[in-house]
Amino acid sequence: MSNQTLPLNDQIYQYLLEHSLRETALMRELRELTLKHARARMQIAPEQGQFMALLVELVGARKIIEIGTFTGYSALCMAQAMPADGKLICCDISEEWTSIGQPFWQRAGVADRIDLRIAPALDTLDELILSGEAGDFDMAFIDADKTNCLNYHERCLELLRSGGLLMFDNTLWGGSVADPADQDEDTLALRELNQMLHRDQRISISLVPIGDGLTLARKR
Ligand code: CA
Repeated sequence: MSNQTLPLNDQIYQYLLEHSLRETALMRELRELTLKHARARMQIAPEQGQFMALLVELVGARKIIEIGTFTGYSALCMAQAMPADGKLICCDISEEWTSIGQPFWQRAGVADRIDLRIAPALDTLDELILSGEAGDFDMAFIDADKTNCLNYHERCLELLRSGGLLMFDNTLWGGSVADPADQDEDTLALRELNQMLHRDQRISISLVPIGDGLTLARKR
């Protein structure tokens, strides 16, 4: 066996789920409801949600910002892993998408931990910085419009405390980032993000091949 990451075929993936996934019935209900949505591909994989929840526990995160909430599955995963007085600020531009997740946040008993801001995320991030919350956040999950990733990165670095953790979703983008023939606008943006993260000495990084690629970056 070579010392590279194991490629997952269906059989191995099923094994992974059967032997590690602890998704509650409520989480599954939200995930399956979202699968019927036209933009279902924007939902994270369940094992990724569980991984992110574990990271929330490891970091001991009490204050998190999420950029790109969609129907709320990742927010549910993270909020459930936070302490009761934790605060998760969710940024999205769609009332329609986020309204699908809100009843599930209520039913899970974590709605009071979630502060949903319907606005362009850059506006919300700038407001947080202006209101003196720079350095206050323990974690950030960036999973929105890919062409703004570098802007989100700079603002989130400012909002994060030293030792805080950034998570960038879709950094493998279905493999497109590794295909030079793919010149799609989002692919180019993610390629530029990956190059920048690789070089950025303000952070320690790991590109984790879970879901569609999740880059972890710890602020030094
Ligand atoms: Ca995503």
